[in-house]
Amino acid sequence: APAPPGLPACAQVDLSAISANVIALKALAGSAEVMAVVKADAYGHGLVPSARAALRGGATWLGVAQLPEAVELRRAGVEAPLLSWLHVPGQDFAEALELGIDLGISTTWALDQVLAAATATGRTARVHLKVDTGLGRNGAWDADLEGLLATLGSAQAERAVDVVGLFSHFAYADAPQHPTVRAQQERFEGIVAQAGRLGITPQVKHLANSAATLTNPSAHYDLVRPGVSVYGLSPVPDLGAPQDFGLREAMRLVARLSSVKDSPAGQGVSYGHVYTTSEPTKLGLVPMGYSDGVPRHATSVGPVQVGGRRYAVAGRVCMDQFVLDLGRDSSAQPGDEAVLFGVGAAGEPTAQDWAAAIDTINYEIVTRVGARVPRVYV
Ligand code: PLP
Repeated sequence: APAPPGLPACAQVDLSAISANVIALKALAGSAEVMAVVKADAYGHGLVPSARAALRGGATWLGVAQLPEAVELRRAGVEAPLLSWLHVPGQDFAEALELGIDLGISTTWALDQVLAAATATGRTARVHLKVDTGLGRNGAWDADLEGLLATLGSAQAERAVDVVGLFSHFAYADAPQHPTVRAQQERFEGIVAQAGRLGITPQVKHLANSAATLTNPSAHYDLVRPGVSVYGLSPVPDLGAPQDFGLREAMRLVARLSSVKDSPAGQGVSYGHVYTTSEPTKLGLVPMGYSDGVPRHATSVGPVQVGGRRYAVAGRVCMDQFVLDLGRDSSAQPGDEAVLFGVGAAGEPTAQDWAAAIDTINYEIVTRVGARVPRVYV
């Protein structure tokens, strides 16, 4: 469907694609449940509508990084089990418990503050112990693990906590044959056994992100945590396109041409004149810039479709706008669509094409779409 007229730019988000992607992921996950990861404004797609679409597709859990994201979902009336895992000292753990938000625990200080909040509110904290099995990022290492397990064991006996989950995260899920993948799984299973010996037997053990959900059934355990694939992007573009995994891109990013100017040959275009017209031509002005998430690095390389043809950004991407050299024969008019990316079925670029053009990952292309760009749900 075309973008609504009169908007400089918008991100059209196909909620039925999000639901369908979760259905596909659920089928792959077999008996494991699906936690749709909706952090970072649902990877730029809009937190609450995307979360609801994922739940409609059969996700039984939602996952976010930061507590404010979880609070926003609860305030919007989303009642599904909800896990938040990246904390800082002093955040409002009492509110999290009041709102029934599960908390990932990877540090001693966080467990101490969560236990204090449980005492203060008289609630049982639902926690998921997050262990570092080799990523070298967020998660408890051996030095803290024994202490955390001991504290969890006694707090569980006093009903201050319910250890609902135990989880970890891969360093190389996008390279399924990498030796760290097997090593992390073995480490994970070892910690599950260690916890079990202390009477801690979480209902949900979870390790798989999108790449592992798609490529590594042995890592599915009780629950998978796909993020990028929920939005129809491939976490392993070298191994397969979204369609190869039964996924469909949910976001179409489109602007409307603001002007189409006749230009002579030899005209420098945009700041620093890094592009110069080689012949008399028409220059189309696209009212989107780096403040909207169009990377400044896309200068000369970002692909955009106008009138069924693809062009590369001509000259520097500016804060609010960039230019396309449409060629002398273009019949483009102000108000015509300039499609930055979509599913690709009509020849338009995809988010993966943008990622390849500027040497980044598709995750960054969709999450960086700016707050000024309205999300229009279709
Ligand atoms: N689980 C955790 C702990 C994460 O940090 C993330 C995102 O980075 C995910 C799951 C989802 O990852 P992906 O988007 O690769 O599926």
